[in-house]
Amino acid sequence: MEKYFISWRDKSPMNPLDVAMKHSAWRGRCLNLQPSENHPSRAVRRALASDMEFRYSMEIHGEIHGEIVDNAYGGARFMEEALHLTEKLACDVFGVRCAEVRPLSGHLAAMAVLGSLVPRGGRVMAIPPEHGGYDGYGPGYLPDMLGFECHPIPFNPSSGEVNYEALADEVRRVKPDVILLGASYIAFPYDLGYVLDVAEEVGAEVAYDASHVLGLIAGGEFQGDIIKVKVFYGSTHKSFPGPQGGIILTNDEEFCQKVSSSLLWRYQDNFHPGRVAALGVALWEMSRVGPDYARCVRRCSRKLAAELAESGIPLKYAPSYTDSHQILMDSARLREKYSMGPAAISRLLEEQDIIVDRVGRLGTAELAWKGYAPGDMERIAEAVAGAIQGRNVRGLVSAIVGRWDGLTLGDRLHET
Ligand SMILES: *Cc1c(COP(=O)(O)O)cnc(C)c1O
Repeated sequence: MEKYFISWRDKSPMNPLDVAMKHSAWRGRCLNLQPSENHPSRAVRRALASDMEFRYSMEIHGEIHGEIVDNAYGGARFMEEALHLTEKLACDVFGVRCAEVRPLSGHLAAMAVLGSLVPRGGRVMAIPPEHGGYDGYGPGYLPDMLGFECHPIPFNPSSGEVNYEALADEVRRVKPDVILLGASYIAFPYDLGYVLDVAEEVGAEVAYDASHVLGLIAGGEFQGDIIKVKVFYGSTHKSFPGPQGGIILTNDEEFCQKVSSSLLWRYQDNFHPGRVAALGVALWEMSRVGPDYARCVRRCSRKLAAELAESGIPLKYAPSYTDSHQILMDSARLREKYSMGPAAISRLLEEQDIIVDRVGRLGTAELAWKGYAPGDMERIAEAVAGAIQGRNVRGLVSAIVGRWDGLTLGDRLHET
């Protein structure tokens, strides 16, 4: 053991801090187009790295060992204040009565919601992974852990939309407890009115995993009728420019109570108080610039998609391509044209400091939060298309990245 430890130490002279700093410097030079990521403001980062992140707060109003307590820990007054302020800001930004901001991730938010909403042995209908649904709802994952069946929502891959007629028939046949909308590949909103009507016929609840589109929803630019669902939830760090984490939003106070009380000691213990304060900062920023940001994200993605298509990059869902922050490449046509799938394309782009995911998605949320505008998309498309077509675009990438002054839309609010 001793020997192993020493030899490992000898072979690994690098301090992980150096690795983290190398990462920051590199990704700071990159054109970041990953739709699952964003670039939170410096203020969010300060809160996230503040002393709170290393402390505990656990409000428990009741008895512990024969004594009445309000928190299982001392020194928590400001963490309590930050938690409740963040909840209030979330209610304001999303226009709901209840917000649960403690889930450590979108996945855990999904787990807590479905654990409270779906009875054991129950049935859920969700967009299947092969059509861009979240893998966690697929066979072997959350359905197995929480003991429910998951049935596919019929989907039309050529239009990127739910096949609504087939959905109605499937809902009547399956009689699900919950119809779960939302997906990891999400270009267009749903016809929620239709889904709610069909759900009502069989007494199903409708829930919405808004992980990817949460920032657009916060800015009022996507699925404007989402508050009609029983509950929506998701990640706070994709199109929403917050710290990595999860959030649950609902108008149903009783349901919110149920989910909230299920979080502690089932899905998690502490909630990372610095993260919650950082989420509060991001919500504060979005309460001021959310609509402008979200509009810019959508305009950028439509413009970027149009420019890419014009350069010959095969995209899905012509002619509108997208209504969200995501642009989806057409894998089959990519392979035909360039003999490369999305993973090979992604590696090729990464060699020239353009970061997209390995599954064919591009996103404009980070660009818009950094203050890039639709007018910048022509050059960005030139860089992406050029790299795919085998040209050296490093100079162009570095000019595009170098244009940014280091301040996000959120940072500008704290300055004034
Ligand atoms: C990313 C994602 C999740 C998981 O969120 P994490 O914050 O990574 O845990 C869940 N559902 C959907 C639709 C997602 O896109």
